[in-house]
Amino acid sequence: MSELRFRVVESAFHAKAKEVTVPAERPSEYFGKYVFSREKMFKYLPSTVYARLVDAMDHGAALDRSVADEVASGMKRWAEELGVTHYTHWFQPLTEGTAEKHDAFVEHDGKGGMMEEFSGKLLVQQEPDASSFPNGGIRNTFEARGYSAWDPSSPVFVVDDTLCIPTVFIAYTGESLDYKAPLLKALRAVDKAAVEVCHYFDPSVKKVVSYLGWEQEYFLVDEGLYAARPDLLLTGRTLMGHEASKNQQLEDHYFGAIPTRVAAFMKDLEIQALELGIPVKTRHNEVAPNQFELAPIFEECNLAVDHNMLIMSLMRKVARTHGFRVLLHEKPFKGVNGSGKHNNWSLGTDTGVLLMAPGKTAEENLRFITFIVNTLMAVFRHNGLLKASIMSATNAHRLGANEAPPAIISSFLGTQLSRVLDHLEESTDEELVLLEGKHGMKLDIPQIPELLIDNTDRNRTSPFAFTGNRFEFRAVGSEANCASAMIALNAAVAEQLTDFKAEVDALMEKGEAKEAALIRVIRKYIKICKPIRFDGNGYSDEWKAEAERRGLDCETSCPVIFDNYLSADSIAMFGSTGVMTQVELEARNEVKWETYTKKIQIEARVLGDLAMNHIVPVAIEYQSKLIDNVYKMKGLFSAEEADKLSAENLAIIREISERTAYIKEHVDAMVEARKVANKIGGERAKAVAYHDTIAPMLEQIRYHIDKLELIVDDQMWTLPKYRELLFIR
Ligand code: ADP
Ligand code: MG
Repeated sequence: MSELRFRVVESAFHAKAKEVTVPAERPSEYFGKYVFSREKMFKYLPSTVYARLVDAMDHGAALDRSVADEVASGMKRWAEELGVTHYTHWFQPLTEGTAEKHDAFVEHDGKGGMMEEFSGKLLVQQEPDASSFPNGGIRNTFEARGYSAWDPSSPVFVVDDTLCIPTVFIAYTGESLDYKAPLLKALRAVDKAAVEVCHYFDPSVKKVVSYLGWEQEYFLVDEGLYAARPDLLLTGRTLMGHEASKNQQLEDHYFGAIPTRVAAFMKDLEIQALELGIPVKTRHNEVAPNQFELAPIFEECNLAVDHNMLIMSLMRKVARTHGFRVLLHEKPFKGVNGSGKHNNWSLGTDTGVLLMAPGKTAEENLRFITFIVNTLMAVFRHNGLLKASIMSATNAHRLGANEAPPAIISSFLGTQLSRVLDHLEESTDEELVLLEGKHGMKLDIPQIPELLIDNTDRNRTSPFAFTGNRFEFRAVGSEANCASAMIALNAAVAEQLTDFKAEVDALMEKGEAKEAALIRVIRKYIKICKPIRFDGNGYSDEWKAEAERRGLDCETSCPVIFDNYLSADSIAMFGSTGVMTQVELEARNEVKWETYTKKIQIEARVLGDLAMNHIVPVAIEYQSKLIDNVYKMKGLFSAEEADKLSAENLAIIREISERTAYIKEHVDAMVEARKVANKIGGERAKAVAYHDTIAPMLEQIRYHIDKLELIVDDQMWTLPKYRELLFIR
């Protein structure tokens, strides 16, 4: 059996970089080739239809049936020129992936033949047979079917022979069954609330856009090696494997020269991403061996989320054509860095102002401070919820482990900004009174260095760091749909900005000047949300104790963390912003708990299977060889000498017996524990049981397997080892 291992190692070793054909045009020319962009809309649609569609895209105006028909027909014409024959509603169910069902453009022509047809009705709404998507009980009654509806704010695109139409997925009773529907609601909520607050500074602001720039980390593994690891294949991570003697200690991989096979993959991926309108920009090696990162230029949040979903599927596809498999799991390898997806987030106005960036004048900086402090307040009030929004069975391996943000949400501001907030906090009422109009600006708010961007004291341990003109939510998992984090964050900020405006207005109604009222409320908030600010080492044990004292959410159990979605504060926040109802939140948590259970269940089965079919037999076979040797020694040497010479082997024989016995017993115990857990009624309780009893067993069994790996003859070991998975490319 170890033959397979050596064969795949050998062929991986000799694999050569694939030739990538680079388009003759420049990237700016092939960018968006497969996207029905505004430019193409203008070309393929009658001008009145174009105007109506743009209105729908920018302002959410409804499209009537006749307009939809014309849009559909223009889209079809464009797509057919690219050789497209099918279309699909492309949506984001509550799995981490996307879903699509392809239909051909054909219809009966009424004369016994076929014709190509794509009506507005098919563009706007469909009823995918969606009974098997997770819904948390919302669709249990069969009348409550689900349908997908076109989201005109994200452009349609072509993949191979299919026109893909981004859609929301909702139940007929109105509840969302996906990520996109609540995301669009959260974006609308933050837009509305932020515009109101912007009016204190500039009455001409009509729209505030939420921006997202994600940084996607991933591992690449040679396809043959991957195929010889059933655990990678079935769970996305290695459930066993001793650390290689060398891993990332030398830090010689990070930002190093990109290996040629990988470089070819990246080039190919980038070309295809650009053609799909994804503005990819940055690529580099990450900290761990065979770990890499890809980042685009930031975009409007809804579009950025779609693009991230799209690029994850593109990565999987392109990797295979280069003889690689891409690992998007947050922790594919124990003992080396995990993968995250930093979510760079900010708000900007239609007048071109980045609200998280300091400005030049006192007034601009008051606006800057307003948005920073309100964001901190939102993160403080909902720190538990934000943690829940990024938590999953897979990301749980990364959070709290030593190289990743801890399972506590805090915010890093850097010394300059901290100093400004401290100064405001300490300001006196007399100073506030001096703030009549813009004249007596005594508080030196204007003295914020304009270039906080690229401030050097960046703190890599902070889960929510201010980085000059944006916040970087770093706890997001590499495999996750960014929408989950973006729904929670934008909704929380929307609620907070609304509350802020109410407080400021109340003071102004009592006769306080605008600036004084703004600063008075900000000053109060700075005091309240102080516990969320932390510039120290987030990985330290002292911080855990300190965070506990500060009252931040320090829960580490994934299924329990999900409870945050159902806290009174969360229900009120999602309700008041119109993002999700209690029924939706409850249903989604059912899905989260169920998914958690299933993931651990699958891992437990795979581990049990590998332990009994790969590890124990090989260990025993090796042990038999040693026993054989011990007996033969007795024929060659005197009893006393043979004993002495066989002492080492005897110790190994004993160790193998002990460890294999432990493994067998615990695999059996794990099966029993699963039986008990499976009988528990209620998804939450079941998930908690899986977390508390089964997940730890995986680690205990693994420990002994990894020890066996160190003593068993390398020639006999069947599974590719860490050094092979991590260093061959
Ligand atoms: P890092 O130095 O953290 O690796 P980069 O400078 O490469 O980060 O940028 C990371 C991401 O942040 C990119 O997608 C970038 O476009 C995005 N970004 C930059 N400015 C903003 C902003 N104001 N709002 C949102 N995202 C931004
Ligand atoms: Mg970053």
